[in-house]
Amino acid sequence: MGPALAARLEKLGVRSVGDLVLLLPLRYEDRTRVAPLGGLRPGMRVTVEGEILHVEVVRRRRPMLLAALGDTTGSLTLRFFHFTQRQKASLVRGARLRCFGEVRAGPAGPEMVHPEYRLVEPDRPAPPEETLTPIYPGTEGLHPGRLRQLVRQALSALGGNLPDLLPPGTAESLALPPMNEALRAIHRPAAGTDPDTLASHRHPARRRLAMEELLAHQLSLRRLRHRARRARAWALSGGDLVERFLDTLPFALTGAQERVVAEIRSDLAQEAPMMRLVQGDVGSGKTVVGAAAALQAVSAGCQAVVMAPTELLAEQHMSNFSAWLEPLGVEVAWLAGSTRAAARRETLARLASGAAAVAVGTHALFQEGVEFHRLALAIIDEQHRFGVHQRLALTEKGSADDRRPHQLVMTATPIPRTLAMASYADLDASVIDELPPGRGTVRTVVMSDARRAEVVERIRNACGNGRQAYWVCPLVEESEQLEAEAAEKTATLLAEALPGLRVGLVHGRLRPRQKEQVMAAFKAGELDLLVATTVIEVGVDVPRASLMIIENAERMGLAQLHQLRGRVGRGSEDATCLLMYHPPLSETARARLAAMRETSDGFEIARRDLELRGPGEVLGTRQTGLLAMRVADLVRDQGLMPDVRRLADRLLDEDQDAVDALIRRWVGEGDRYGRV
Ligand code: ADP
Ligand code: MG
Repeated sequence: MGPALAARLEKLGVRSVGDLVLLLPLRYEDRTRVAPLGGLRPGMRVTVEGEILHVEVVRRRRPMLLAALGDTTGSLTLRFFHFTQRQKASLVRGARLRCFGEVRAGPAGPEMVHPEYRLVEPDRPAPPEETLTPIYPGTEGLHPGRLRQLVRQALSALGGNLPDLLPPGTAESLALPPMNEALRAIHRPAAGTDPDTLASHRHPARRRLAMEELLAHQLSLRRLRHRARRARAWALSGGDLVERFLDTLPFALTGAQERVVAEIRSDLAQEAPMMRLVQGDVGSGKTVVGAAAALQAVSAGCQAVVMAPTELLAEQHMSNFSAWLEPLGVEVAWLAGSTRAAARRETLARLASGAAAVAVGTHALFQEGVEFHRLALAIIDEQHRFGVHQRLALTEKGSADDRRPHQLVMTATPIPRTLAMASYADLDASVIDELPPGRGTVRTVVMSDARRAEVVERIRNACGNGRQAYWVCPLVEESEQLEAEAAEKTATLLAEALPGLRVGLVHGRLRPRQKEQVMAAFKAGELDLLVATTVIEVGVDVPRASLMIIENAERMGLAQLHQLRGRVGRGSEDATCLLMYHPPLSETARARLAAMRETSDGFEIARRDLELRGPGEVLGTRQTGLLAMRVADLVRDQGLMPDVRRLADRLLDEDQDAVDALIRRWVGEGDRYGRV
């Protein structure tokens, strides 16, 4: 195979013969019968055969080749808008052709545009296809027929003999076919099989493949965890910083926070590196839990690092951590992409010497040149925006003296349990499933933007009563600049409509310092209304803000709306969230807005979000590659997970060779994301 073809296949994720047979057809076509030309109707997708009666090249702006095909019942025009000289030479009067394509109504009766075709010898009639014809996902420059041929070759090269890697008896007990049978059913389905049933993910052959794939990923993550856990970490105990910290807090931990703090505490006291995921809804108080963990490291004479995916979120942590830790005599250093050279040098020196015990920042924290004195704990917020790779890179960072840092991953995207089992099999999970007491409730109202004037009135009333409000401007995917300009315009219009109110503006184009000033002013009550782009999603915590307006809410995802709404109702007062949409609403948008109105439970929101848009987007895995599955779909196939976990346990105990082979078959060489 030449490099050009190889490159095209690579786009489909195909790097080996084995990959080819794991490529699933999107659908099937029935080419097992040849249709008589006399019975063709527009819209039919059929195989036909006939003799070329007449060929001509019509000169329009570009030459076009027309061929008339005939059999005893009628005729059909074949139309080619582009063609090679070789094609032209073979499509001659008297040649017999077998074609497949969609019939459409042409100016002179039925025609096919660019049918798939091949020449057949007149005296040796070729039998029609024996099996249904699989249609694989296409890619530019790769002819569907060629791809089909490659898969067929791959199947026969493997001799119908792909080893069954599941423990004996497993497939039967799950009522799934053996691997070879599954592959045959998928790639060479017998004539007469119903193509729709076959293309459905519920088909046993597909479930068999999905099962194996989920298993392979599970094994790969578990092995990764196993390797990482074999490393040594600092056993963190001693000192009284954690107690002193908890004593200074103006509130008591919730039961859920206490439970999670205790889980982390006992993990950190071990020499095996902790690998723990803390899930907790917006506002459930994850930061305090992270701070307690960091202090346990500092108390034991080590360092901790806190990393967030955006500078704004990191700043929020910085202000919390320095407010909490510095009174206890713990130095907190700041490092982000925007940190100036001199300040950066100073920070690097203080981290390397150990003078700064805690570092807060963005991924700038694990770039070249950042050295720690004794890094014992890495806290990563909003995990779903970081890939497994980045997480591992960070862990490697700390491997001084043969010790790895413990890992604490915090996420506000509540991930349903089965999904978490599949995607975070390398982590233990803790859940903060309780909000701090005394929070008001948030009422959610959905309304058309035709009622904008009413909304402005509501702001006037709320702010007149000493409350504060957020106005969130629409997301402009293409350009932060356009988004910022739109927000500026909205702020100006609202300021005109609401004289007497103090209106602030924050968007992604402001410098971090400017953003911080506006946020701080809003927090201090010096502003009544804050117009913002979605940057506040992960932003400030303002207890007096009790009204939020989200413009063009129909364009946002559920998880994002939920995060935004979490910005109000943080005080004791009841709050309102107005979701304004621009009609007409699509089905999905309608379902999303209804979900927002009906529930404020993050886990329920996550469940519906998955239903509405699939897991890749929720977890941001398009970028990370973590869940890039070929056959399986984590949401659809989540019912398989209990069996997958059980099988993984068994294989890891009994059959390392099968584990290796499964990972190689599905995840690829070097575990792809699993390189530690
Ligand atoms: P998130 O889990 O969304 O990161 P935060 O850690 O930002 O939530 O906490 C939200 C707010 O709740 C903060 O103002 C925090 O100080 C406060 N908070 C956290 N825990 C408690 C508690 N047990 N009681 C009262 N308030 C708390
Ligand atoms: Mg948080």
